[in-house]
Amino acid sequence: MDRSRDDVWAECLGIIRDNISRQSFRTWFEPLRAVGLEDDDGALKLTVQLPSRFYYEWLEEHYFSLLRKTITKVLGPGGRLYYDIVIERDEPAAGGPRRGASMELPARQPANVPPADRPPRVELPEGVTPPRPAADVPSSAGRAVDRSRGTAPDRRAPTATPFALPGVKPVDVDPHLNDSYTFERFIEGDCNRLARSAAQAIAEDPGGTSFNPFLIYGGVGLGKTHLIQAVGNYARANGRARSVRYISSEQFTQEFVHSIQQNRIGEFSQYYRGIDILIIDDVQFFGGKEKTQEEFFHIFNELHQLGKQIILSADRPPKDIVGIEERLLSRFQWGLIADVQPPDFETRVAILNRRAKDDGTKVRPEVIEYIATHVKSNIRELEGALIRLQAHAALTSREIDQDLARDVLKDLIKEARPQLTIEAIQSVVCDYLGIPEDLVRARTRKREVVQARQVAMYFSKEITNHSLKTIGLHFGGRDHSTVIHAVNSVQDQVDTDPNFREMVGNVQKRLEMHQR
Ligand code: ADP
Ligand code: MG
Repeated sequence: MDRSRDDVWAECLGIIRDNISRQSFRTWFEPLRAVGLEDDDGALKLTVQLPSRFYYEWLEEHYFSLLRKTITKVLGPGGRLYYDIVIERDEPAAGGPRRGASMELPARQPANVPPADRPPRVELPEGVTPPRPAADVPSSAGRAVDRSRGTAPDRRAPTATPFALPGVKPVDVDPHLNDSYTFERFIEGDCNRLARSAAQAIAEDPGGTSFNPFLIYGGVGLGKTHLIQAVGNYARANGRARSVRYISSEQFTQEFVHSIQQNRIGEFSQYYRGIDILIIDDVQFFGGKEKTQEEFFHIFNELHQLGKQIILSADRPPKDIVGIEERLLSRFQWGLIADVQPPDFETRVAILNRRAKDDGTKVRPEVIEYIATHVKSNIRELEGALIRLQAHAALTSREIDQDLARDVLKDLIKEARPQLTIEAIQSVVCDYLGIPEDLVRARTRKREVVQARQVAMYFSKEITNHSLKTIGLHFGGRDHSTVIHAVNSVQDQVDTDPNFREMVGNVQKRLEMHQR
């Protein structure tokens, strides 16, 4: 065999890297190793080791077609990919090292993987273990705290400091969780799928997955606080952790400053070192607070070393947070960093429906769609619009219908972007691709025209609320199945072809300009 398994896998990784975001690549592919390459009657079989079943499920669900294309490209049409999943069994396998289960792609349902009612603890193969703190990292217990420098004392009234309550052990401490922030109430969409799945895996097995720390970042009102608290709520309710503490970074800072002022830094340290799941929200506010960061750094190291779970959120990617020490930033990279994005239309509708149902109010589908069409960027605002509507309906004893919605949400909606028409989308796409606009409605099957037509169909589906049938009619009376085919084809190319993806991205920017 003239190519080694490492060369082959490196070649695959090269293709994969070009086709997905850097973050996804680092999370899902960089840690993987090829462990075998065999020639099976002329067909090459590559085996890649996966650290856990969760990886397997994630790859199958999200990268199936990319992996298939990549393997075909690198190994030829007969090429096959096998997974070797590292599974830590509760009881050591008799007479031998840990066995991985293998399965063949494209089998979507593995035949020989152990039951997954509970994801197995992740055991990373040697060489891919995320770095653990070196043994010589000094523990901060008993460190002298220099009171003359560091965080400026906060003049606000000190918040309750549970660690200071006499005789209270962390186990008994109020975790400060909002119990309505659960996984059940968290609607899943493309915008938050990675973050949600990882959060769930962590909640099942805090400290036991390779996602430690787990950091979620994204804009305001996109569900970060909800999701990180859901982990705490689930783990507590299901006996996965004894002590959970949720705290914002600002409050953590206040507690720390307060403990210095009261000369109780020892208690502070001890309290935080006894926690099973430490959840710190909005860590961007640690920026510039050197002493707090130092204390957190030591707590982080200790908890991590003890296999305790650390969960963080931030309003931007860690690398963009100003004033955070490099050593802390590098620790954030140890586990999993996942983002949450603004929800798409369907997810917005699902969130509103869910919310109305929880509140026990009846809201007509067209009203839900009306709100979802106009309030787009932020889930908090989306819920706010519904609450406003409910309040008005209750106060004026009116039914929640579209008229009321229009009245009540006038201000919100006035600021909203104007809807683009299908014709406007056709015009922007054709202008960008240099194609006469009427051709997308004509019969021609010339390659450039077909491409422009498909991209315009794709954005018509994304942006407008028209049905597939209506969209088809606007493209020279085409069938709805043609529109479906166009949308899938564009999505497929966006997933696999960087140039195409860039083109679509540019068109999208132009369309957004037209919506201002
Ligand atoms: P962030 O911390 O990102 O600013 P929050 O977690 O505070 O956002 O979310 C704002 C509001 O939106 C909360 O009431 C939360 O319950 C709700 N919310 C956010 N994402 C979802 C979701 N995917 N499904 C249901 N509700 C959500
Ligand atoms: Mg928040």
